Amino acid sequence: MYYCNNCENKFEKPKRTFETHGLSSPPFEVFYLCPFCDSTNFKEVETKYCRCCGARIKNSVTGYCSTECKKTGEKLRLAEYKKTKQLAESPLIMLIREVDNYNKSHKTKYSYGQYVALIKPRIKVKK
Ligand SMILES: [Zn+2]
Ligand SMILES: [Zn+2]
Repeated sequence: MYYCNNCENKFEKPKRTFETHGLSSPPFEVFYLCPFCDSTNFKEVETKYCRCCGARIKNSVTGYCSTECKKTGEKLRLAEYKKTKQLAESPLIMLIREVDNYNKSHKTKYSYGQYVALIKPRIKVKK
C-alpha cells in the first residue's frame, strides 16, 4: 500500500513511467508516480490486519478492524490470560512452590519427590 502525501490518496501500486532523456532506446530513467496526481511524494505504508478476524485494516491504532472485533479480541486475550494464570496455580506448580517454601523455611533441600513421599504425609497428619 502506498499513501500519497500530495493528494492523500491510497493505492496498491505506483504508476511506473520513464523519462527517455531524448534517447530512443533503453536504459531510460524510471520513475514511480502517484496514479492520481502524478506526484512522486508518496510513501509505502504497512498494511495491517485485524488481530481478531484477519481483515485488512485501513488505519487503526487498536489493531482491530471494528469495535466488535476489538471486543471479541479482548475477550479472547482475557481468556488466554486466565488460562495461563490457572496454569500457574495448578496443583503441581502449587506443590513445587510448597516444596520451595518448605526448603527455605526449614533450610532443607528436599526434592519434589522426597517432599511428597516424606514430608507432605507428615504435614497432613499434623493437621
Ligand atoms: Zn497523489
Ligand atoms: Zn476484525
